[in-house]
Amino acid sequence: MSFTTQLSVKLNDGHFMPMLGFGTSAPRKVAMSNVEEAVQVAIDVGYRHIDSAYLYLNEEAIGQAIRKKIANGTVERKDIFYTTKLWGTFSRPELVQRGLELSLQKLQLSYVNLYLIHYPVSLQPGEEFLPMDSQGKIIFDTVDLCSMWEAMEKCKDAGLARSIGVSNFNRRQLEMILNKPGLKYKPVCNQVECHPYLNQSKLLEYCKSKDIVMTGYAALGSDPGKDWVKKDNPVLLEDPVLNAIAEKHRRTPAQVALRYQLQRGMVVLAKSFTEKRIKENFQVFDFQLTPEDMKTIDGLNKNRSYFENALFSHHLDYQFLDEY
Ligand code: NAP
Repeated sequence: MSFTTQLSVKLNDGHFMPMLGFGTSAPRKVAMSNVEEAVQVAIDVGYRHIDSAYLYLNEEAIGQAIRKKIANGTVERKDIFYTTKLWGTFSRPELVQRGLELSLQKLQLSYVNLYLIHYPVSLQPGEEFLPMDSQGKIIFDTVDLCSMWEAMEKCKDAGLARSIGVSNFNRRQLEMILNKPGLKYKPVCNQVECHPYLNQSKLLEYCKSKDIVMTGYAALGSDPGKDWVKKDNPVLLEDPVLNAIAEKHRRTPAQVALRYQLQRGMVVLAKSFTEKRIKENFQVFDFQLTPEDMKTIDGLNKNRSYFENALFSHHLDYQFLDEY
């Protein structure tokens, strides 16, 4: 079996990425056995794209789940598209490959399909994910994005990552990479927060014009129980307009929110550790939103982010919103 159970998109380096990905970041209270179980259920349901990161601290459980599914003959390694991400404390060029090797060790896999720069920021190297000074301020490092990118290119050349890309980059930051003298590989994708309340239409248009796939996270409105997610935002899946469209199609608001992104030509991630919802979220390839539905959902945009991006906002002109 190859990527035939769901649609996939051809990346600018020739590899294929399934358009629906299984998200795995969860509030810290979620037990690792839940992660392992959820990934196994997702593979059984048909998901072939799994998204994680060094930061999520769950790669041992995910690796275990993938290896079990390979061992019992459900899939082969080539059927799975696995993404991990470079955390900021590994941004120095000499540490970039080390960051990936640590993920691979946890996963017990020999390569990942996609390695992303998690955020366009570098942090002081060390054990702490968020190194802080005595005043409680984050200690940034001074690595520029182009040097980071050159080290990412080396990971691809070493065969440890089939494809390389970025996450949480705005247009200006993407341009820094694309205009880098001696660029060897373009980023294949930019993974950003994207949902009807933050539809990133300008960034999507720009990415398409550069043959860079845009992948959307928090497509269901994320989870206020997670660190860095704001607690006071309206709940996306309770939106009356989304619910009315869902009712018309005899679907759920989650299915409509996912289908919306697929019809915009995006790859989309959906996280659930509940079996019923894991299955529900996969049923998005057998119905279609009308052009009017798409326009109505476009109209819900409020440039509203669910994530607390203030954390890094003063660094590198960091921004999620479509403001350029
Ligand atoms: P999400 O996929 O928008 O939503 C997850 C929340 O929605 C969970 O609380 C889940 O609860 C609930 N849910 C899932 N399906 C549902 C359904 N059918 N009906 C009702 N509720 C449903 O949020 P996310 O986890 O923040 O984002 C998705 C993935 O993107 C992450 O897991 C991660 O892999 C990636 N991500 C990347 C970045 C980055 O910086 N690159 C940042 C954030 C996330 P249950 O589990 O209880 O079903």
